Amino acid sequence: MAYGGGYRGDGDRREPREFFKATCSDCGKECEVPFKPTEGRPVYCRDCFRKHQPADGGRRDRSRF
Ligand SMILES: [Zn+2]
Repeated sequence: MAYGGGYRGDGDRREPREFFKATCSDCGKECEVPFKPTEGRPVYCRDCFRKHQPADGGRRDRSRF
């Protein structure tokens, strides 16, 4: 077991993840997604996916501690 040493590149290799080529609907960049792109549905690259993800879920009014 080659654990330790600070190398934690691909330690998570449970099952071979399939990647599908897709074109980002936002920036038009070619990207790979870990799911099969559905026709008619926008596919985002990693950058745009983060952009399009609701950062706070729109529940800002509930954050009153
Ligand atoms: Zn993009």
